[in-house]
Amino acid sequence: MISSKYTIREQNEAKILTVIIDKNEVSRAELSTLTGLNKASVSAITKKLIEDEFISETRIGDASNVGGRKPIMLTFNRQSALVIAFDLGYNYIEAMLAYIDGTIIDSIRKRRIDVSAENVVGQMKEIIDHFLSIQPKTPHGIIGLTAAIHGQVHNNVIHFTPYYNLDKGNLWEELQAICDFPVFLENEANLAALGEYTFSSHYQNLVSISIHSGIGAGIVENGDLQVGYRGRAGEIGHSILYPHGKECPCGNLGCLEQYASNKATYQEYAKQEGLDYVNSDTLQQAFQEKNDRAIALLEKNAELLSIGINNIIMMYDPEIVVINSSLYRKIPEMIPFINAHIKNRFSKDVLIRNTFLEKSATLYGAFANSAQNFLNIKKLKLIKEEIVSLHE
Ligand SMILES: [Zn+2]
Repeated sequence: MISSKYTIREQNEAKILTVIIDKNEVSRAELSTLTGLNKASVSAITKKLIEDEFISETRIGDASNVGGRKPIMLTFNRQSALVIAFDLGYNYIEAMLAYIDGTIIDSIRKRRIDVSAENVVGQMKEIIDHFLSIQPKTPHGIIGLTAAIHGQVHNNVIHFTPYYNLDKGNLWEELQAICDFPVFLENEANLAALGEYTFSSHYQNLVSISIHSGIGAGIVENGDLQVGYRGRAGEIGHSILYPHGKECPCGNLGCLEQYASNKATYQEYAKQEGLDYVNSDTLQQAFQEKNDRAIALLEKNAELLSIGINNIIMMYDPEIVVINSSLYRKIPEMIPFINAHIKNRFSKDVLIRNTFLEKSATLYGAFANSAQNFLNIKKLKLIKEEIVSLHE
């Protein structure tokens, strides 16, 4: 049973909390000015937020120009609650426990395993039990679990997962039955975009391209994640690159991801070089050794990918496109390969960069999703300045 602490936060309470989070430190008088709420309302709401341990009084601020009493400053209690994030790949599971502001407490990685509808709940339960056993004491405890699914998801229902069978059964129901906090399932690329939006950028219009076995885009427009009517928005991996091309599990011929996904690139390189197993490390090494065949393959990958990126820029007009791919992280020199192809008069000003969140953008997005729900704040920004400043 989910307790009443998860009921929707009242609108004005969420409004005040949003300003406190954005400003980092703010007085009651400033809150009144910034929210348009009168002083009595601000006083009553901040009193409740302090009692609920969402915010604290930090220090005495400076008096205003016109004199009067020095104000008491308020700040968001960034460690008042905990969130759990999962990334469920077809051959790996990653999970993290963090404070609500994305400060990581513990992480678990299982690699080169087969993830299926039959074994996924058992594997997740083991990890959840471990997190429960080590969780630090906080006022609200664990307030949400969000799991990333590599496929089409809408309202926690998995509709189509081309590379594993999580679309069989009802994963959400099974997980909710073993968790006494809210559980959410969301598309992996959507979560990566939400992670970039919330933790790594000041932009309001952002597209994140996730490239693994498939290719998906997460779209944030004016701070809102765009998922479409059925959760299919941004499925650019299934936009057609070559008419009558290779068969795709989606039913199309010639889908972008059959040519430009990391999986397709690894397979191509393995075939070309007669290798059994190729991953991003293999190609990184070949690139560093200036292997001409590897460089040509990587340039080709960037060229094909840039067609998909160009198309999505034409549709959504983002300020920034963030690339989430182990290949592009290992070989950042591939970003200029993309830039060389994104040069028409509409797209050439769009910033294209690698993720700052390294391999964890999806997990950060999962934190953000649970936090947004618990705080009832859309457009939540919890920028990790220490991460952003590392890259800028
Ligand atoms: Zn397809």
